[in-house]
Amino acid sequence: MTDQLHKFLFEGMPVRGLLVRLGASWQELLRRHAQAGGYPAAVADLLGQMSAAAVLLQGNIKFNGALQLQIQGDGPVRLAVAEVGPNFAFRATAQVHGDVPEGAPLSELINRQRKGRCAITLDQQDRLPGQQPYQGVVALGGANGQPFERLSEVLEHYMQQSEQLDTKLVLAADAHCAAGLLIQRLPPSAEAHLSGQAAAAARAEAREQSDDYPRIATLAASLQPEELLRLDAETLLHRLFWQEPLLRLQEPAGPTQPRFACRCSRERVAAMLRSLGAAEVDSILAEREQVEIGCEFCGAQYRFDAVDAAQALLEPPVLAAAAARLQ
Ligand SMILES: [Zn+2]
Repeated sequence: MTDQLHKFLFEGMPVRGLLVRLGASWQELLRRHAQAGGYPAAVADLLGQMSAAAVLLQGNIKFNGALQLQIQGDGPVRLAVAEVGPNFAFRATAQVHGDVPEGAPLSELINRQRKGRCAITLDQQDRLPGQQPYQGVVALGGANGQPFERLSEVLEHYMQQSEQLDTKLVLAADAHCAAGLLIQRLPPSAEAHLSGQAAAAARAEAREQSDDYPRIATLAASLQPEELLRLDAETLLHRLFWQEPLLRLQEPAGPTQPRFACRCSRERVAAMLRSLGAAEVDSILAEREQVEIGCEFCGAQYRFDAVDAAQALLEPPVLAAAAARLQ
């Protein structure tokens, strides 16, 4: 199954939607992690939902950079991360300790003490030196203290808290597919309000108060995980919204299709060795013949023997750049 992201609007209504289906790329991610032991089903399910959600969120904002969705807490999972680059290349990883019960809900996986957090970080590509990436954080439970049992609830809560946007999400994953549907009420037309055009402002207000969004969100919520995972986009959208004026938008294709890709490299690992420091690296080399570092996201193994390590320690990027200029 191919990897697809579909964007759509409902004509004349303040509602937009996105549908993502990760097939081959999701299987590739699972295959890479399987080489390092793989994940229990409930953790793979969470990571699949996080990957689909991160692609949906990336597709839903105008932003040039990497989006990271991170959940941190306690339980058999301490940390789970999904990252999506500007061209929809994604990767994901989780730290798992101990047994994971089959079908464990979110609270049991990562929020046992009710202190779990979900963070979304937007790391802009053209960030100025010293400028921090934007980060929003929410708890894994509602105002009433009840923990959320599904990732979709956490993210709906996040969108409401940090963006004041009504959002409905349906997410599902299994060993073959990770998929998600996002329906969102469009923000009021800021332009119309700012320009003071009474008619445009009134139209924007009427659109906001219409029952279009609640109706479409209810239709979206009726989608079963099995349908989301098995139906092709055409059939799925028709089945849900056949009575609505759905408009398909241009879909990312070719190099901007969602796909699995890792950003790790030998240079990045060398930079990590430099940040560890010579003493630490020497003490590792005193015990074994080489320093071995595996990428948590893709399983790639980077090996540095004593000569490689000495070179990595000696070669900060500035010196390397100067050396390149001299050649
Ligand atoms: Zn990697």
